[in-house]
Amino acid sequence: MERTLVILKPSTVQRGLMGEVISRFEKKGLKIIAMKMYRFTKEKCAEHYAHLVDKPFYPFVEGSMMAAPVVLMCIEGVEAVEVVRLMTGSTNGRKAAPGTVRGDFCMSGQENIIHASDSPENAEIELKRFFAEEDYFEYDSPLRPFLYSPDWK
Ligand code: ADP
Repeated sequence: MERTLVILKPSTVQRGLMGEVISRFEKKGLKIIAMKMYRFTKEKCAEHYAHLVDKPFYPFVEGSMMAAPVVLMCIEGVEAVEVVRLMTGSTNGRKAAPGTVRGDFCMSGQENIIHASDSPENAEIELKRFFAEEDYFEYDSPLRPFLYSPDWK
């Protein structure tokens, strides 16, 4: 079982797309085990996007991520990191495959709806960045036998 971080970006909150995006993950059979609204600070943005702070477009990223609150979610499932990245689509919404969140809901390489962790290692680091232990809610799903085989295949 794996956990990954998804951030519904400010544009998603402003455009009223939170429900549609969350619904996709629910319908897929993934489990949301932590969720809260959050407002990025400059410091947290620079920490989260440390790999981009030296890029010329970083001020735009910072402005975009601080423009409104975001929604933070921890999503759990078998191979959840890869599954959620596949559902997210490539960075530029114009090039993202139809059927993916970015491919269906945006036209931009910056205003691209969600962030999703890109590896299990980064997921662990990113989840610790935003969630404390008491933020997680473990619960049994009665749908489990209908979502996976007994050996989680
Ligand atoms: P991803 O979010 O697909 O993992 P990156 O980690 O490369 O992609 O970039 C993080 C975020 O920074 C992107 O989701 C996007 O919002 C923004 N971004 C990336 N590249 C650009 C760019 N060339 N111009 C503007 N914003 C960008």
